[in-house]
Amino acid sequence: MLDPQPVIEPPLLVHHKCHQCGFDLHGRQYGERCPECGTIIERLAPPWWNSESLARIARAAARAKWASLTLMLLPILGLLMAVTGMGRFFSGRGYVLIACAMLLLQVGVQAAAVETVARQPIGDARRRWLRGATVLRLCVFAAILAAVMVEVVVQVIVPDWIAITLYFSAPTAVVATDVVAMWVFRSLAREMRWRDTAWHEGATAIARGMLVFAGLLVIMPWCGWIFAPMIWAASLAQGFRALERFAKAGVAAQ
Ligand SMILES: [Zn+2]
Repeated sequence: MLDPQPVIEPPLLVHHKCHQCGFDLHGRQYGERCPECGTIIERLAPPWWNSESLARIARAAARAKWASLTLMLLPILGLLMAVTGMGRFFSGRGYVLIACAMLLLQVGVQAAAVETVARQPIGDARRRWLRGATVLRLCVFAAILAAVMVEVVVQVIVPDWIAITLYFSAPTAVVATDVVAMWVFRSLAREMRWRDTAWHEGATAIARGMLVFAGLLVIMPWCGWIFAPMIWAASLAQGFRALERFAKAGVAAQ
C-alpha cells in the first residue's frame, strides 16, 4: 500500500482574529468578508507560513539532522575499536578527542539550526523557549568539554563532586533542552494542523520517547555509555527530519 500523501489543511482552520474588530474568523475563507465589520479577510496564515521562512527552516533542520546522524558513527567507532583491538593504535585519549570534536560539530550545527528557526517570525514565546534551550545546551556542553579537557589533556583530576554532579545532571539537562526544541517544532506543525504520514508520525513519537530514555540510560556504566548516545543521536535526527518534512511540505503548499 502506498503511503498517503501528507495533507496540509488550509490555514483558515486556525483560530485567527479579524485585524479590525477582533472577531474570530475560524472556518472562514480568504476573500470573504468579516461577518462582524465587513473587512475582507486577507491573511489567515501565521507570519512564518511563507516560502522564505519555511525554506530556511527546512535547510536548517536538514543540517541538524545530518550532524546528528554523523554523531551516530562515534559509538560505532568505539564498538569497532573495542571489538577489533583497534584501540591499540588509538589511545583512549585519541578516542576522547575524536568524540569531543564530533560532539562539538553536532552541538554547533544544532545551535545554529535552532537559532535559524528562532529568527523566523514564529512568535516571542517560541523564540524565548528555543533560545533558552540553546543557551542551556551550550552551557552544559561547555562544562562537559571543560571537565574532559582538564582530565584528558591537562591531566588534572577533576574533583569528585564536580564530576558526579556533571555526570548526573548534564544528560538530563541536555535532553530537557532537546525536548523543548522538539516541542516547539511540533507546535508549529500543530498550528497548521499538519499531520505527516502515519509512519512518520509514529517514528517521531517514538523518537521523542527515546530521547528521554537515552537521557536516563546514559547514566548506566558501559552499556548506557555505548547505546545511549546512539539512541539520542538517532532520536534527534528523527526530530529534525520531522521538522524538515513539515517545512518542505509547507514550501510545496505555497
Ligand atoms: Zn471584523
